Amino acid sequence: MGLIIAIDGPAGAGKSTIARRLAKRLGFTYIDSGAMYRVVALWARRQNTDFDDLHRVGQLAEAASIDLIDDRVLLNAEDVSDALRTPEIAQGASRVAANPQVRRALVAKQRAIAEGRNVIMEGRDIGTVVFPEAQLKIYLDARAEERVRRRSADHPEAPVAHVAAELADRDHRDQTRQESPLTQAPDAVYLDSTGLSPEAVEDAILKIVRARLTNGKEFQ
Ligand code: C5P
Repeated sequence: MGLIIAIDGPAGAGKSTIARRLAKRLGFTYIDSGAMYRVVALWARRQNTDFDDLHRVGQLAEAASIDLIDDRVLLNAEDVSDALRTPEIAQGASRVAANPQVRRALVAKQRAIAEGRNVIMEGRDIGTVVFPEAQLKIYLDARAEERVRRRSADHPEAPVAHVAAELADRDHRDQTRQESPLTQAPDAVYLDSTGLSPEAVEDAILKIVRARLTNGKEFQ
């Protein structure tokens, strides 16, 4: 087992930006677990399967071959990266993510991908469920208005009120579901990125990495 850095938090907190930067800086493999839930939602959509059809969506999650290669996401060998980034698939992902069979299947795939490597994995349940033994856990948060602002910058075509409602809806669903809800692990470091640049958040986490993992030294 390599080293694991787990980053969890709500949508728009900056998890993927920061995890990607840190992975590059430390030479770790970056794993975007949310992309895997999005893949299952996309496949369900393409099959005209209702996101809430537990049995069929669970079967799709088990059958899906998902590869994360650099910044691209492959579903059954097809590059679907761009199709995953729509508001509809984001909402669908949070609906299929409440399905226990989907979670079991994806958690197994996440553990398999991490096998034998140093990884930074970001999501909602990485420090609590996927890798409770992770050497470092960060709970990355930001105030709701800022998270909406960041998400709106990614989707300038959508009315801000609409983005805000979708984000609130998704966070509520992620925090209140029965199975692996979004919550801070007791041993996670809480970091509020409101008003901070990506550089500042990266520096704050690198300090924690040095304090906790490398005894004050640079990682490599
Ligand atoms: O991180 P991202 O916004 O791409 O995640 C999409 C959805 O996937 C989240 O809203 C959440 O419902 C689900 N998810 C999850 N557990 C994870 C990662 C994502 O439930 N580890």
